[in-house]
Amino acid sequence: MQLPDYEVFALRYARRDARRPEHFVGGDPHDAPMPMDYFVWLIRNGERTFVVDSGFTAEVAARRKREYLRAPKAALALLGVRAEEVRDVIITHMHYDHVGTLLDFPRALFHIQDDEMGFVTGRYMRHARFAHSIEVEDVVGMVRMLFKGRVVFHKGEAELAPGVSLHHIGGHTPGMQSVRVHTKRGWVVLASDATHYYEHFEAGRCFPTVVDIGRTLEGYDTLRRLAESPRHIIPGHDPLVMARYPAVSKELEGIAVRLDVMPA
Ligand SMILES: [Zn+2]
Repeated sequence: MQLPDYEVFALRYARRDARRPEHFVGGDPHDAPMPMDYFVWLIRNGERTFVVDSGFTAEVAARRKREYLRAPKAALALLGVRAEEVRDVIITHMHYDHVGTLLDFPRALFHIQDDEMGFVTGRYMRHARFAHSIEVEDVVGMVRMLFKGRVVFHKGEAELAPGVSLHHIGGHTPGMQSVRVHTKRGWVVLASDATHYYEHFEAGRCFPTVVDIGRTLEGYDTLRRLAESPRHIIPGHDPLVMARYPAVSKELEGIAVRLDVMPA
């Protein structure tokens, strides 16, 4: 059977300035700027629409001193997607920058790994080292969704539709999952924070916010195995994504790029 092709987009909703030593376990000898972008992703074709992650709110942005460019919902609207009508939101992991704004998706099911829900409701949240990246209101919000029957649990690999599948990577968080999508240029992998920047998987280095370094490094092999080529792997926070891929339109420059075409 011929697999359907999907369009895939990265939508940038926030950013912050940072320096190289902040982004690597063990620091970095080069104290140069290395800003961070924050994304949600959109997968769609004539039949199905999937939103990948839900970003954070303006309130959280202000508290954590992130530069908020627009609400994820507003970014989606620029691509003609009404958040109110979205049926499937994939949550790659429960960090605050990936799972805020749940209430903006009143009809959606939320797809998450078993291990991630266990992580954010379990003993590791006693430790600021791990809890710092989690908003308790996001966890409570997800529990409310659970009791409304709107959470879909996955354990390992799962096909959501022909050509769209989830892959448990772990490492960064225990339930970290990446998304594989069939496009006209082959299999694209939305790694999310399985690799924050291109440099992490290319150089075998690790972002300092991490639960299991070994699994993170092993995860890079999984991303390579899932993707058509290394140029089909999309990191979770790298400004190079906006630089390498074409804007959806002139009006959406700096806001949304297409990932289903080859990068420059
Ligand atoms: Zn992140």
